[in-house]
Amino acid sequence: MTLWLGLLLPLCFAALCAIQVWELRRDAWQKAERNAQNLLAIAGRDILRQVELYDRALQAVAANLSDQRADQKADQGADRGDGALPRPLPRQLLFAPAAATTHLGSMVVMDASGEIVASSDPAVGSRRDFSGHRFFLRHAGDPSAGLQISHPFPDRYQQDHLIALSRRIPTADGRFAGVVVGTLRLAYLRELLDGMEIGRASTINLFAADGTLIYRSPAGGAQPGLDLSRAPTVRRFMAEPRGVFTGTAAIDEVERLYSFTRLGDRPLILNVAVSTDEILRGWREHAAWIGLAVGLLSLIMLALLLRLRQELRLRRAAEAVALAEGARLAELSETDGLTGLGNRRRLDRLMALEWARLQRQAQPLAMIMIDIDHFKAFNDSQGHPAGDAVLRGMADCLRAAIRPDVDLAARYGGEEFAVLLPEMPLEGALRIASRIQSQLARLDLPHPAAPGGRVTVSLGVAARIPAPGTSAEMLLRAADAALYEAKHLGRDRIAAAA
Ligand code: GH3
Ligand code: MG
Ligand code: MG
Repeated sequence: MTLWLGLLLPLCFAALCAIQVWELRRDAWQKAERNAQNLLAIAGRDILRQVELYDRALQAVAANLSDQRADQKADQGADRGDGALPRPLPRQLLFAPAAATTHLGSMVVMDASGEIVASSDPAVGSRRDFSGHRFFLRHAGDPSAGLQISHPFPDRYQQDHLIALSRRIPTADGRFAGVVVGTLRLAYLRELLDGMEIGRASTINLFAADGTLIYRSPAGGAQPGLDLSRAPTVRRFMAEPRGVFTGTAAIDEVERLYSFTRLGDRPLILNVAVSTDEILRGWREHAAWIGLAVGLLSLIMLALLLRLRQELRLRRAAEAVALAEGARLAELSETDGLTGLGNRRRLDRLMALEWARLQRQAQPLAMIMIDIDHFKAFNDSQGHPAGDAVLRGMADCLRAAIRPDVDLAARYGGEEFAVLLPEMPLEGALRIASRIQSQLARLDLPHPAAPGGRVTVSLGVAARIPAPGTSAEMLLRAADAALYEAKHLGRDRIAAAA
């Protein structure tokens, strides 16, 4: 019982610690999620603002061109009707709005045929034809295409990558007049994202809406322009406007916690991927220490418990031995050494007990006092050892005559015996007395010095219902008086007390 309780204690302790450790893990996870959301919010806002700014610059250029066209038309007095852009285009005027933005590569204007008609960068060759490019076709075919963002492509010097943002230039009546394109260096994203503290094995990525990687920080070998639209993680980015989930990266097979969001209504997806290993590393260390401490403490508790149990067992065993010894001594102290019957002490104790008990139950207690006749003469003629044998024989007679477990036969002293008979009226006690006599007769012990030539006894019988305020002493006295009477009347007989 104590062992089970003792086992339960360390178990409860361990369970409590486990709950605590689990809470720590949840905290670490929640903190990582919160951090990721904050990063997404901050970086997302910056990128979105930058894109808005560029879009506004592109729109301003487109508007400038439309205005100039209108002016030129007015000057010439007639519309050539081909929707062609005026040329040459004054560069400063054209690209003035773009000067307010940073990270802008070059800005280029192409006419409805895809031919470059103006460029903020003189190095951009005017012979390049963009009419077959996707963004161009899109603007030409769809007046409501809005801002288009291209996939990343390497710059002229193969040193950096760019993305192109483009807007349609409409004629006054909404026809397609050309496209204005601005490039944005990925250096911008590098500056913004690489400086963010996201931890090792964690990444922050910008994707195009079609699952093409625009920029990954840190790059980790993933080139801008990589098509990841088939990666399960990227598929989820594409399917929902925002979310959080745990997955394994297609690029490096590291398990990460992914938080992602669409950037406004732009075709851009930003995601922060934090390595789960990183999130839980601190916690694991913590948990390992706690586990170790709990394990050790539990072991110590268990060891102490086992030790205690052993001590208790030893003590209990010692107590049992002491108890048994005590009982043996008590038994011995109330036993007559020669006959094995109870001695005077036991008789006195039980007599008082029975007297009190039977007084409550109003039942009689009977007593027989027995004295061997002419025993001195027996000893004198046969010797003491023979006398002792007679005493032992006498004890057997008493044992045979009484009810076992109920009555008590005791050696009162010398060659005198007493029998205590609880709940026994006088008649019953007389019957027991005569049974004792016949038992002795059956032994047929010779006594040359006795008148009858055999060992005989005289018996005095008394029975009383204990009255309040009396003691067992009176029963003893009555039995003794009866014995005296039996002796007086000639021995070898039974006398009953009045
Ligand atoms: P009565 O018939 O009047 O009882 O005569 P008695 O001789 O029995 O009476 P008394 O009381 O004078 O004698 C008791 C004798 O019992 C004295 C002693 O020798 C003997 N006796 C007492 N204790 C022992 C004992 O332990 N062993 C033996 N062998 N004899 C004992
Ligand atoms: Mg005597
Ligand atoms: Mg005698």
